[in-house]
Amino acid sequence: MKIAVLGAGAMGCLYGGLLAEGDNEVWLIDIWKEHVEKINKEGLKIQDKCGERIIKNINATIYPNKVGVVDLILVFVKSSSTDKALEGAKGIIGENTIILTLQNGLGNIEKIASVVAEKNIIAGTTAHGSTLLDLGKIVHAGKGLTVLGEINGKITDRVKKLKELFFESGIETIITDNVLGVIWDKLMVNVGINAITAITELRNGELLDFNEAEELLENAVREAQEVAKAKGVRLISENPVDHTKKICRLTANNKSSMLQDIINNRRTEIDMINGAIVKEGSKLDINTPINLVLTNLIKIKERRYERM
Ligand code: NAD
Repeated sequence: MKIAVLGAGAMGCLYGGLLAEGDNEVWLIDIWKEHVEKINKEGLKIQDKCGERIIKNINATIYPNKVGVVDLILVFVKSSSTDKALEGAKGIIGENTIILTLQNGLGNIEKIASVVAEKNIIAGTTAHGSTLLDLGKIVHAGKGLTVLGEINGKITDRVKKLKELFFESGIETIITDNVLGVIWDKLMVNVGINAITAITELRNGELLDFNEAEELLENAVREAQEVAKAKGVRLISENPVDHTKKICRLTANNKSSMLQDIINNRRTEIDMINGAIVKEGSKLDINTPINLVLTNLIKIKERRYERM
C-alpha cells in the first residue's frame, strides 16, 4: 500500500517505520527540513528494548506534492496543526484515500473534515509511546493497542483491511463500533494527567503522591465526564477517575507529552484537551472551573516562552 504519514515526529516515525518494515511504500511528510534530510541520508533509526535498527526503505519529504496520490494518510501532527497540515497536503488526497487520525484530543475529525469529505476519515487511538531523540531517531517507549473505527460505527471492509495492514506490520489493532467513546475515554486520561503534570513538573505516577494533585485530577476528569454524558458520548470505562489513576500507575515513570512540550518550549495541545472540555461545557451550560484554570495556566506558560 502507498502510505503517507503527515507529521514525522515521534509517533509519525514510529508508525511510518513499522509500516515500512511491513513492506509498504511509506512517505514521511514534515516541515522540518533537517530531520527529513537526515532520514533520507541515513535511514530512520528506531530504538527499543532490543536495541537500535535502521529502516532504509522509507522516503521523507517536505514537499507533499512530490508524493502523488496515496491510499492512506496517517495524520500525526500535533492537534493544533491538523488543519494546516491537511491543507498543505491536499495534492496527495484522491477520491478513495483514507485519512486516519490516531491523534490525542478533541476536534481532529472536524478539522480534517473541513478539508476532505467525512466519508474518507477513519479515527482511533493508540496506546504506543514514542519520543524523538534526535534528527531521524526515535525511541519506541511503550507498546500498546491501536483501536480503529468508522465515525458512523459501521464495521466496514476498509476498516477490516486497515486492521489487517497494521497486523502485518506488527501493530496490534482492534476495531470498535464506538470510536467516539474510545477517543473520549483517552481524552479523560489526558484531561486528568497532562496539564497537571505540565504545571507541577511531576511524572505521571507522582501525581498520586500528592493529595492536592490527586484532587485536581479527580475534579478535572469528573467535569469532563459530565460534559461527555451531556453530549451523549458512550464512554468505554465505567469509572474514568479510577481508569485515569490506573494509567498514572501503569505509566508511573513517564513524563506526559504536555510536560515534554513545556520543557522543550513547544506549543501544547491544551486547546484540544482541557480547553476542549471548557469549550464543549460552555455550549451545554456546564461549568468546568478546574479545566478552565488548568487551561489558562498552561496558556500562560506557553505565552511566557513565546516572549523569551
Ligand atoms: P511530535 O511533535 O513529535 O511530531 C509532530 C510533527 O509534526 C513534528 O515533526 C512537526 O515538525 C510536524 N509538523 C508540524 N506542522 C506540520 C505541517 N504543517 N505539516 C507536516 N508536518 C508538520 O508529536 P508526537 O508526539 O508524534 O504526537 C503526534 C500526535 O500523536 C499528537 O496528537 C499526540 O498527542 C499523539 N500521541 C503521541 C504519543 C507519544 O508517545 N508521542 C502517544 C499517543 C498519541
